[in-house]
Amino acid sequence: MNVLLVEPGYPTHYPPLGLLKIGRFHRDRGHRVRFVRGRSEEAASFGWDRIYVACVFTYHWNEVVRTLRFYAPHTVKQPEEALFVGGVLATLMADDLRKAVPCRPVSGTIRSARLLGLDDDTDVDSLLPDYDLIREYASSYVVARAALATATRGCSNRCPFCTVSRIEPDCREHIPIGEQVHDLERSLGPRRDLLMLDNNVLASRFLPRIVMDIAELGFFAGATWPQGRRRVPRRVDFTQGFETTFAAAPENRHLIDLLALLPVHPVRIAFDAWNERDDYRKALEAFAERGFRTFETFLLYDFRDTPAELYRRISFASRIAERLGATLSLHPIRYIAPGQKSRRARRGNAWNGKTLAMVRRMASGAIRTRSAIEERFGATEEAFLHSLETRPEK
Ligand code: SF4
Repeated sequence: MNVLLVEPGYPTHYPPLGLLKIGRFHRDRGHRVRFVRGRSEEAASFGWDRIYVACVFTYHWNEVVRTLRFYAPHTVKQPEEALFVGGVLATLMADDLRKAVPCRPVSGTIRSARLLGLDDDTDVDSLLPDYDLIREYASSYVVARAALATATRGCSNRCPFCTVSRIEPDCREHIPIGEQVHDLERSLGPRRDLLMLDNNVLASRFLPRIVMDIAELGFFAGATWPQGRRRVPRRVDFTQGFETTFAAAPENRHLIDLLALLPVHPVRIAFDAWNERDDYRKALEAFAERGFRTFETFLLYDFRDTPAELYRRISFASRIAERLGATLSLHPIRYIAPGQKSRRARRGNAWNGKTLAMVRRMASGAIRTRSAIEERFGATEEAFLHSLETRPEK
């Protein structure tokens, strides 16, 4: 069987792990598998028994549909049978995709190969991604510098802006990571850093096991890595962050003690709403008390907030970091509703097209210092709001 795996040409730093697990499934059965990014005339010209297309954000709709239309004529069978599309967009918008282009959307995680129309019960989602397939593209992904691993799946919370419960409805609280890291390193070589992809790792009852698994792989506090003639610190980045309320709770301090055994860098804590300010402060303080000094915070906006609240959050967060002597990178990030096909779409709330465009410009790139906030957003909330009203739209 000849199988083509396609990642559409949208910008991304993370390799499509689901697609690479499908690649492993087929290669284990002796099938010929190839991976490409974007629309490749040369790859398409071959007749494929199956083509699998990945997709993530719904606002990549146009690129995903263009990619499906491009490959649809190149399956040996009808595209409704042999052109598969999976991932977040396909899970949330399967019907829209079917209407837009002949294809076969696959929703959620692939817990059985029967979801791919095969007479096989293999849990494809539990396979290791086959990184051999992306060797020629590896330098454009984060795997160029770091190993990837997932120690949990899903999340039992239901934050109103989050789709994890729809994408990964089954929660798993501990998945061993040793083989994930060793297998990536077998394909791509040893890596200094480790990126953990868990949605909400603090909520796992198996956090002590997870921390030990990570430390046993050589990622422990104080661990170093040879770089030229020097040694540099190894790092573990929990890329999806630590849930603010959970990290703030005094009864969870022992969890942060556990994390202090690891070289967590940066500590990512979100600040999504003004009414979470006490929890945000307590979470930062809890990590700072255990010696963590580098933080990163995403601030969701254009959800249920106002421009004034965004300014207040930015200002509040930077004051806390200053008081703690910590380095904090702030990243305002606009809420994109599930099903929204473009980043430009408006939902009708306290934000309007002009304020969104201006805040996007002000917020581009990380914000690290009080002076950067004053320069980009204004010295006070009033100055910020005034500039939103009066600055000409470029
Ligand atoms: S804790 Fe994180 S992963 Fe879980 S629902 Fe909330 S935002 Fe989503």
